[in-house]
Amino acid sequence: MKKTKSKKVNARKQLKVKLENTLTRHKNVVGFKPTQQQVYQWFRVLNRGLFNSRLPMVPIFVKNLHKDWGRCVANWDNRKTPKGKFDQRVIPYHIDVEFYIELHRKFPKWKDFVETLAHEMVHLYQMTWLKDPYSNHNANFFAWKNKFKNAGLGLTRC
Ligand SMILES: [Zn+2]
Repeated sequence: MKKTKSKKVNARKQLKVKLENTLTRHKNVVGFKPTQQQVYQWFRVLNRGLFNSRLPMVPIFVKNLHKDWGRCVANWDNRKTPKGKFDQRVIPYHIDVEFYIELHRKFPKWKDFVETLAHEMVHLYQMTWLKDPYSNHNANFFAWKNKFKNAGLGLTRC
């Protein structure tokens, strides 16, 4: 028996059970405000269960977002790389890029929180693992739909 494979299957099963349990616990709660601790805890759980721990740990900021529930940001507009130097639509992987995730501070339900975080983590996978210069809702993104479905999570465009 291959040890690595069974480990992977276990991580997936653990994720599914943990998601089901937490969902049941929060079922009747309207308005979920994630704490920093919950955000990082779920990042670790999702990273292990969905992404084989391939994602790097990145800063996650919980704040007031006006247009989105969440955002995965590749930042290369810092002082070392002045704005306008690169095509802003494409992520320049030949220079140092800093990644971080932003989440809105309040979600309608707990499930919206976890699905938003998982959604942004797919973008992080596109950016850090595939080095997809667009990292938008393309085929690379929706290739995750089945894995999400198996875990009981939805993966949508917004
Ligand atoms: Zn997105």
